[in-house]
Amino acid sequence: MQESVRAKYRPVTYPTAQVSKESFIIESYDKSVRIKEIHGGITPGSHLIKGYVESEEHGGTYFGVKMRLSKGNDIAESRCTCTSAHFYGNPCSHALTMRNVYVKHKKELKKEVRK
Ligand SMILES: [Zn+2]
Repeated sequence: MQESVRAKYRPVTYPTAQVSKESFIIESYDKSVRIKEIHGGITPGSHLIKGYVESEEHGGTYFGVKMRLSKGNDIAESRCTCTSAHFYGNPCSHALTMRNVYVKHKKELKKEVRK
């Protein structure tokens, strides 16, 4: 008997308790998106972003998301621990959401750096 791929695959999620112990560079207002690391600076150009995005179906659990943004903040590549990314490919909705939160908040980061 052939075992289905779905049965074998276990997406990795992170409980809220684990995520809330960490410190974040950017948090969305509802805390559903939490960006932990930004590599490559906040100036235009390619940079790597890592963080967590809360599951819409299972509130309180977070998927690990990392992505590389190109100039113009397009998603050049992304990875997410959700089932959707595994079965339908990247970028999933979590990567797109994190990218949008990053773009919205990066101006605030620049202001802080200039102080
Ligand atoms: Zn995802």
